Amino acid sequence: MKQLLVIIVVLFLSACSSTTPRIASIPTGASTPLDLALCPMKVSNAPKTSAGKVQRQSALACLNDIELLINPAPDSCLSSGFGTLGRNHRGIDYHKRPAGNVIAAGDGVIKTITYRKKDFGNWIIISHGANVYTAYGHLARTSPHLRVGMEIKQGQYLGIMGQTGAGANGVHLHFEVRQGNIHTPQGWWGLTPLNPFRLAGDC
Ligand SMILES: [Zn+2]
Repeated sequence: MKQLLVIIVVLFLSACSSTTPRIASIPTGASTPLDLALCPMKVSNAPKTSAGKVQRQSALACLNDIELLINPAPDSCLSSGFGTLGRNHRGIDYHKRPAGNVIAAGDGVIKTITYRKKDFGNWIIISHGANVYTAYGHLARTSPHLRVGMEIKQGQYLGIMGQTGAGANGVHLHFEVRQGNIHTPQGWWGLTPLNPFRLAGDC
C-alpha cells in the first residue's frame, strides 16, 4: 500500500513538472513555410530574401533525423544571419519588441543552464540526441521550471530574449545549432556550428 502511494505521488509530481507553459503559435505540420521577415535595422549575413522575407520552404530543419524549428523566437524578425562575413557569427539572431518568448527548437534534454558573463549571458543548451544540440543566448531570464537533465518538448517555453552577457547589440535571441561529440575537453565549443537555413526541411 505504501509503495502504491509513492508511485501515485511520483506520477503526480511528474505530471506537474510537464505543465510548464507551451507557446501556441509555433508552426506545426511538415509543409508549414517559414514566415520570417528581416528586421528593419541593417541585417548582416542575411540569407536570400524576397520582399524583405527569408526565402525558405520549411519552418523546420532536419539534422540527423532530429526535427528542429528554424525560429525558436515566435513572431520575431531576423536581425543577423550565420557566417563569417564581417564577423565570426556561429548562430542566428532574432529580435522582437517588446522582448519575445524563446522556445525549444526540438524535443530533447536540458544539458546546460548557466550565466556566461563574457559573452552569451543567460545561456541554455539542449541535447536532442543523435549528436545534435541547440543553444540559446543573451536571454533576459530563463524559465524557473527548467533543470539540467529535464526532458523538454519542441515549443516548450525556455525564457525571454534579452541582452545579457557581453557584446549583445540590442535585445535579441542568439540561437545556435551544432553537431558532434560534446564529450571532449572542448565540450560545446568543439562541436561544429551549422547554419540552420542551410539544413534540409522536415524529417
Ligand atoms: Zn548572435
